[in-house]
Amino acid sequence: MPYEQKTQTIQNYLVDEVKKSFDLASGPLIRFSLIQLDAEKHILLLCVHHIIADNWSINILIQELTAIYNTSLTDDLLCPLLELPIQYADYACWQRAWISGDVLEKELAYWKNQLEGSVSLLELPIDFPRNQAINNAGSKYRFFLDQNKTAQLNQFSRDHEATLFMTLAAAYAVLLSRYTHQHDICIGYPIANRSYAELHELIGFFANTLVLRVRLDDNPTFAKLLARTKLSCVEAQQHQNLPFEKLVGELSPQRIPNRNPLFQIFFNQTVAEAVQQMSGLDLEEMEINNSSAKFDMTLDIRVGDGGLSGYFEYNASLFKESTIARWANHFQCLLQNLLNAPDMPISEITHLLENEHQQLVFHWNATEKIFIQEKCLHQWIEEQVEKYPEAIAMCFEDQQLTYQELNNKANQLAHYLRAQRVASEGLVGVFMERSMDMIVAILAVLKAGGAYVPIDPRYPAEHIASVFQDAQLKIILTQQSLQHLLPLRAAAFCIDTQWKQIEQHSTDNPVNATCIQNLAYVIYTSGSTGHPKGVAVTHSNVIHSTAARLHYYQTPVASFLLLSSIAFDSSIAGIFGTLCQGGRLVLVSEETVLDPAAIINLVTTESISHFLTVPSLYFAILQHLPDELKNSLKAVIFAGEACTNNLVSFHHAKLPEVLLFNEYGPTEATVWSSVHHCRLNEDPIPIGRPTANTQLYLLDSYLNPVPVGIVGEIYIGGKGLVRGYLNHVAMTAQSYIPDLFREPGSRLYRTGDLARYREDGCIDYVGRRDQQVKIRGFRIELGEIESILLQHAAITNVAVIVREDKPDQKHLVAYIVADSSTLEVSEIGVFLKERLADHMVPSIFVLLDQLPVTSNGKIDRKALPAPNIASQITRQYIAPRTETEKIVVAIWQEVLGIEQIGIHDNFFELGGHSLLVAQIVSRINKEVLVNLNLKTVFEAVTIYELSVVIELAKGSQDFVFSNAETKNLEYEDIAI
Ligand code: AMP
Ligand code: MG
Repeated sequence: MPYEQKTQTIQNYLVDEVKKSFDLASGPLIRFSLIQLDAEKHILLLCVHHIIADNWSINILIQELTAIYNTSLTDDLLCPLLELPIQYADYACWQRAWISGDVLEKELAYWKNQLEGSVSLLELPIDFPRNQAINNAGSKYRFFLDQNKTAQLNQFSRDHEATLFMTLAAAYAVLLSRYTHQHDICIGYPIANRSYAELHELIGFFANTLVLRVRLDDNPTFAKLLARTKLSCVEAQQHQNLPFEKLVGELSPQRIPNRNPLFQIFFNQTVAEAVQQMSGLDLEEMEINNSSAKFDMTLDIRVGDGGLSGYFEYNASLFKESTIARWANHFQCLLQNLLNAPDMPISEITHLLENEHQQLVFHWNATEKIFIQEKCLHQWIEEQVEKYPEAIAMCFEDQQLTYQELNNKANQLAHYLRAQRVASEGLVGVFMERSMDMIVAILAVLKAGGAYVPIDPRYPAEHIASVFQDAQLKIILTQQSLQHLLPLRAAAFCIDTQWKQIEQHSTDNPVNATCIQNLAYVIYTSGSTGHPKGVAVTHSNVIHSTAARLHYYQTPVASFLLLSSIAFDSSIAGIFGTLCQGGRLVLVSEETVLDPAAIINLVTTESISHFLTVPSLYFAILQHLPDELKNSLKAVIFAGEACTNNLVSFHHAKLPEVLLFNEYGPTEATVWSSVHHCRLNEDPIPIGRPTANTQLYLLDSYLNPVPVGIVGEIYIGGKGLVRGYLNHVAMTAQSYIPDLFREPGSRLYRTGDLARYREDGCIDYVGRRDQQVKIRGFRIELGEIESILLQHAAITNVAVIVREDKPDQKHLVAYIVADSSTLEVSEIGVFLKERLADHMVPSIFVLLDQLPVTSNGKIDRKALPAPNIASQITRQYIAPRTETEKIVVAIWQEVLGIEQIGIHDNFFELGGHSLLVAQIVSRINKEVLVNLNLKTVFEAVTIYELSVVIELAKGSQDFVFSNAETKNLEYEDIAI
């Protein structure tokens, strides 16, 4: 039998035996077996249950066995073993008596103090989701440190008056801290626990488990960390007798079903014993792999003559082998680097291999592409006008404009603006409804040399005023119907009613007065200080962003459906991505954006080839998609928010021939920074790789690159990086830092987004570092809502969070502590609506006596109670009475996930939002056989009102709710 096969047979046999012994009920605690390998070779197999023997015991057992065996070969029949002074039972009695009263108190006091405030879970990044049930499937990954390195380690330890164990444990803690970003690390380790000479020769389970707590939050040098580790070890040694199970019992840490208490990571160091010599027999120790892991991960080091042999034993249901292999390399690399520079702060010591560093920082960011573009955006569009004057540039409902017509109109307005002294970098507000004029205005501002500042007219007056003030806007382009919404001081020009004035101007292209370093637009986004902040973007930024788009998307845009509001930068993808390549931009009305069925209709009638949307709207669109849809769609792009694998599967089921892309990027880096082509069966859906001329770095809090699999914050570099926040130098300085990896002078934008690399360099989005959230594509700083709430005289404390109590249904919940018991929830809603855009007004308010806090006094957001929506409803509950009311209640209950809904409850107060309206309407239409439109539900907001509408609609199919002008529409919409 070949050697490998033999060892495999033995291995299998051993594993079987071990399993038998594990089964305490039926298996023996100790078992001897003799296996015959061939005529000359036998194997003596000794299988001992851990409950009766620790590692130390095994050595005694073998020594004694050898002694007896050797004696048995001689004529001397005397037992070679000495009489034992005590037995294990004596020890057990002693231990029971000892560990009580004062001694117990003293020992417990030490450990309680030692572990006070330690973090109970070390969150190593896992490759596979953790199941509820404990799964101990394990595996080992081995590595070896040669004699030289071992000698260096020993020398280093001696120089620092520490043991090898301490040096290794301290380095292990640094490694774990790198992977978890936690700086207070608890590692379990075994201790022989045989402090008395009488115990040295006994076989039995004496070993105890201790916890080594290593703190790295002050970024010490390795020498300092080692001294700290030494102190902990030495002290722990003096308190090693308290049995671990007693400690756990006394501390009673919060138990989590599938996690070990106090620590989940283990470290074990043993010294290889000299192999015993049995006369005439060759003894060989074999290690077995019993395919289990006691902890998430154990580092096991065995000190032998040839060096250190180590392995990581890991839970194979959590980690891939390739991950642990990488970590084993990191450990060795880190150890070496720490030894080389013990007096440097540990953050400066890398654990990355040189080629790994190169790959992370350079190879995966090798996105350089030369796009010859020294023209401004409007000049790029003017080129298309030259090429395709008669082609349709855009259309909206029944109107359309050719490139020539668009250019002429924009030129006339641009000349007018020049006459108003709009010059280079002059900011011009664009305060307009979705319309052709809106695009004409944008183009005209650019042609005049200015930069446009889009402002959504649906925002409340206070928000609009604060943007006006922040941007110091002097000129605003608007429409007659919106003029009354503007702050009084603003000089507004209505381009619809005052077009006659504009028409006086020339249709020729104005002489260009802009260079690509000048501003093109300023887009406002939520700010945590309570004020929106303006992101100032140059022509160069947009040109690069657009050129990268044209380069990446191989199929040219024939017709792009612009769903995004111009107040969000995803509109840039549609507007410039289309007009810079001679495509047709299809605009939609505000109502259509909220109506998935109407969007689908446009996709077919307008032969749309591309559109971009937030995932939540796309979900609604797919839900409404008929099975047989003839369409000209080439690509759908998600952007702005994390998307789920469900949505991607849904897309592939409904539109298998249409390409699907996930774009990621903040406004501060110009629309998009990475992209992924979404295929089937990927979970999670990555955000892909950096776009052309963009670098994405995933860095830890010390700005060191994190390796594959480890969560880091996304920092973006490259040509999309914008100038900064308008008029806010300090805020800009905080968010943009020097690029550490490229030529001096270049910068990086700190996104606050967390992500990790896959092994192939593709990036997975993980979440946020801060309180910024996205709801249906809207970027919201929870701090902005909180600071506005705190302006209310009666409110003393507040926390706003996003809850997703039902999958895919995120909503804002405000927890409020108020001085006055008379404060009405509805009053707070009105207060906020006057100050914040609708999408920032929480749908649920919960009044609390106080906010829960963590042990260090911060608001414990995780402990905020799930809102009881029923208790929000101050109105009396009135059950549905008619058949129609019952049907509508049932639909609302399902869609909103609320058990009891009365007929006067308000849809939006119950957490309803625009996309759910679409669901409600389609369900009602199907179940009651009517043909309601979306607007109806925005207006008939209670079961009672809606049922009346349905009853009427049953009588007349083309019913239109007549109450529109008297109602204030309350709805949240979608950002794209
Ligand atoms: P905005 O500036 O409004 O475009 O918002 C940018 C933020 O939206 C990013 O910093 C992310 O937090 C989030 N975001 C954008 N695109 C994605 C995406 N594809 N997946 C996950 N989050 C995204
Ligand atoms: Mg964006």
